[in-house]
Amino acid sequence: MNKGKVYIVGAGPGDLELLTLKAKRCVEEADCIVYDRLINKRILKFAKPDAKLIYLGKLNTEGGVIQDEINQTLVKEALKGKVVTRLKGGDPFVFGRGGEEIQEILKEGISFEVVPGITSSISVPAYSGIPVTHRGISRSFHVFTGHTMEDGGWHNFDAIAKLQGTLVFLMGVKNLDLISGDLIKNGKDPETPVGIIEKGSTSRQRVIKGTLSNIMDIAKKEDVKPPAIIIIGGVVNLREEFNWFEKKELFGKKIMVTRDEKQAEAMSSIIEKKGGEAAEVPLISIEDQMKDYDYSQIRDYGCLLFNSQNSVRSFFKYLPDMRMLGNIKIGVVGVKTEEELSKLKLVPDFMPKEYLGELLAEEAAQCTEKEDKILVVTSDISPIDCEKWSVKYNRDFKKIDAYKTIKVKRDRGEIIESLEGVDIVTFLSSSTVEAFAESLDGDLGELKGIKFASIGPVTSETMKRLGLSVDIEAKEFTANGILKAIEEAM
Ligand code: SAH
Repeated sequence: MNKGKVYIVGAGPGDLELLTLKAKRCVEEADCIVYDRLINKRILKFAKPDAKLIYLGKLNTEGGVIQDEINQTLVKEALKGKVVTRLKGGDPFVFGRGGEEIQEILKEGISFEVVPGITSSISVPAYSGIPVTHRGISRSFHVFTGHTMEDGGWHNFDAIAKLQGTLVFLMGVKNLDLISGDLIKNGKDPETPVGIIEKGSTSRQRVIKGTLSNIMDIAKKEDVKPPAIIIIGGVVNLREEFNWFEKKELFGKKIMVTRDEKQAEAMSSIIEKKGGEAAEVPLISIEDQMKDYDYSQIRDYGCLLFNSQNSVRSFFKYLPDMRMLGNIKIGVVGVKTEEELSKLKLVPDFMPKEYLGELLAEEAAQCTEKEDKILVVTSDISPIDCEKWSVKYNRDFKKIDAYKTIKVKRDRGEIIESLEGVDIVTFLSSSTVEAFAESLDGDLGELKGIKFASIGPVTSETMKRLGLSVDIEAKEFTANGILKAIEEAM
């Protein structure tokens, strides 16, 4: 009997890129993923489309009943012969109860592997500019749980207070008064610096600083909430100089990405790279239409025009042999379109300086002869008017809908929920604006405080027509351009 396999995997503290290559591979291979509250949900995108995703989050980290359920789920799924990946925040053995899960798995004779993760106990301080050790300041660091034991037992603070190194407490927010109080009582200097880092390594990271004697009052005033790490020692002061993460361009900004699922990823990565948080709510989907196209017709054309990345992608996806294009002239509009073409080692013969379809027609006319056939590769909703162009330039322009843009209408409730905490909604096409307004049933009342960003004038027009303010407009009509405009506006 195939008893399956369990990977006990640490997923890091929150920043997606702190996932290890091995952890990513385990997510990709898994038939079933059991994950908890502290992991970055974007990790789940690496899963196979048919992987079973099971969320078992402990609302309070003390576990209890839910831990039994987790153990049983791992066993049950593995015994079906499945590869089960258990994704945990940070490292699975640092207060992660990974060991308990292994004990259950062992009882059933199921094989397992452990993939260590980047624990929050060192990485969250690092993201707030606090090194856990530093020459001349701290020669060791010590990591504790801030929970008392079930029988009320507690650490030996007499010993802890004597330690010279950095003290790190996880799960300590609830017992902050006990921790700071017991350290002072046992002789630690009340003026010892203390930092509390909330939601470290995410765009919502917040750092509170004080000393052992006043941190409790400050934490209360600032309403510190878990997950948070308490770090105690002289190294905390280095943050003044070393703080780097919170200075990133989009730090603290939650940005909604509405473009189609496949293209959303690239944009979300840029947002996260700049310290922001991406909320993906695809409002369109792109569907290729070239599967049954007879590519042998291409021979009849003198020129091929592309007006978007998607048009290039869809056209070439099913082209059986690149040589069928022969010496056909190729024109593109837009830097991203050119980029997509260059991935295929094709250099366009011309590319208008401005992002205007009309200019594409004009340049196509210049490199073709009277009545030549010109194929415009575009989408079903493209406003390109081939008849008008044919008359104007005395050529035979034909349009092909290489892909369809399908608006994705969502429930009003779903959109309102996804807008929670969002600072800026981005629109990269008119269709996404329409799908947004339609999903909200045209009632845009509840959107106070949210800013709307547009990729360019055409999208902006649609936004205005549908009653949305255009707070930010990109100068360069790309995802990067819109993010640059957001940075400048902030
Ligand atoms: N195995 C995890 C720790 C699990 S215990 C690890 O190695 O990081 C949960 C505690 O971890 C939280 O209560 C909090 O103290 C800490 N923690 C985890 N992620 C955090 C984050 N992003 N920011 C601040 N604290 C975090």
